[in-house]
Amino acid sequence: VDVSGAANLIVRGVRLPLWGEKGLERGSIAVVGGRVARLGEDRDVMDLRRPETKVIEMDGGTLLPGFLETHAHLGWLGETLVQIEMRGCRSASEAAGKCRDVPLPPSGWLIANGWDQTLFEGQQFPHARELDAVCGRVPVICYRVDGHAAWVSSAALALARIDDKTPDPAGGRILRDEAGRATGVLIDHAMELVRRLIPEPSVGERKSHAKAVMKLCLAHGITGFTDAGTDEAMAAAVDELAAHGEIPIRLDLMPLGMRREFVAARLRQGPLFWSRGGRVAMRLVKYFLDGALGSRGAALSEAYADEPSQRGLLLMSRDDWFGAAEEAVRAGFGVAVHAIGDASVTLALDGFEHVERQMGHHGRMLRVEHAQLASDVDLDRMARLGVIPAMQPIHCAEDRAWVERRLGAGRASLAFRWRSIRERGMFPAFGSDAAVSPLNPLLGIVAAETRALPGETGWTMSEALTRREAIEGYTSWAARAMGGHGLFGALEEGESADFVVWDRDLLSVETGELVKAKPQAVFIEGLWIHG
Ligand SMILES: [Zn+2]
Repeated sequence: VDVSGAANLIVRGVRLPLWGEKGLERGSIAVVGGRVARLGEDRDVMDLRRPETKVIEMDGGTLLPGFLETHAHLGWLGETLVQIEMRGCRSASEAAGKCRDVPLPPSGWLIANGWDQTLFEGQQFPHARELDAVCGRVPVICYRVDGHAAWVSSAALALARIDDKTPDPAGGRILRDEAGRATGVLIDHAMELVRRLIPEPSVGERKSHAKAVMKLCLAHGITGFTDAGTDEAMAAAVDELAAHGEIPIRLDLMPLGMRREFVAARLRQGPLFWSRGGRVAMRLVKYFLDGALGSRGAALSEAYADEPSQRGLLLMSRDDWFGAAEEAVRAGFGVAVHAIGDASVTLALDGFEHVERQMGHHGRMLRVEHAQLASDVDLDRMARLGVIPAMQPIHCAEDRAWVERRLGAGRASLAFRWRSIRERGMFPAFGSDAAVSPLNPLLGIVAAETRALPGETGWTMSEALTRREAIEGYTSWAARAMGGHGLFGALEEGESADFVVWDRDLLSVETGELVKAKPQAVFIEGLWIHG
């Protein structure tokens, strides 16, 4: 950064806990042309002050790089933010009442989330007639809090042609009254009978989803977000928003591998590396090799301890995966692959080795998403191949209750191995997987440090990280995984001035205080855009 001219902005009077080894009690940052010109002692930074420099006196906040979310779902999280919220309702009629006077979206369907009949008096499942009383002939679908049941209106039942004679589909159940009539509650796979009728979100809806998520990001001090599975409509929505200057944060889009035509088109166009004014990237294609441990869908090398007939399921054949990875890299893209169980982590790395054999050193980014269970041998291979593990500390905390049952004690010690990953010189990149888990990075930082939710005790503490490392996982290490190393995420001189002033010192407060922290001001490229 050329500092011969004036600084555009100086923010002073802030704690700089990541400065040097020990941090700085009171310091400043100077911004020139949207980039960090100097960070450090007040007097050194104030040397860059000229009459035209805007000086903001913060008096006591703590300045950190903006948090970066390296794996979450822009469309899905956005949907939950704009859809009807039924969480906490105490009766079916109260829940149905949430749909009253809600304008009908272009899809023609009202969609709600979060009801839980265990909170209702008598704990009875709700009935279609309660929705009909509020919504009349509008098709409505309301997902249970766990996503494993749907409560629908009579109009939705009729559109799906569900009546007394409709058999329960495999893996699902249609709840019925004494007379055998469908009540409007559909369990597991029976939900598909209705869900398949709902049109995919339009570009316009995707725009509102993206905007809702970006707003939530700023409230959590997040200045960059990776969408771990972008569809056509979302890509088009982000294009339109970017054209109108409506992308306040950095968005890293990963096209969904199973959308074959979309991916083929993007591969022909080539990758985007932080273009559109530095706000948008599309550099990696996202593939899925398995499911999750909770539902025993993660592919394991040995059977589940609590269900010996199950080893999970691989979702791609070896040949298909090798071919897909190679095709993406040949087109100049990197690859991000969802692999949770140890068998799928092994397969993921086999694929990356295949690409290396075919192409030699290609320099494209390779990421394993989640990497929840990995052997020493595979961690060594990951390090040798330069693979970035993109991990979600909150899953480690949330899964604590049952992970040992699923895996047995011995294997459970090979789960969420952040310390082992650091010891091999790799930088785990953190995120939340929202809407699976809450977006809030502070919960992830607590989980990375304590391997527990706030107020609980953790497990396999030998794999825990320090507070500082946990914060790096959401800032400078995350920037590497987003292709932003040297561009943003660390507040090195010359990097984009994306930073947050917090109301308390995230490095030193205890975890109970940490989760109460609020961003006082969020700056991106040196512009105060939130708080
Ligand atoms: Zn995900």
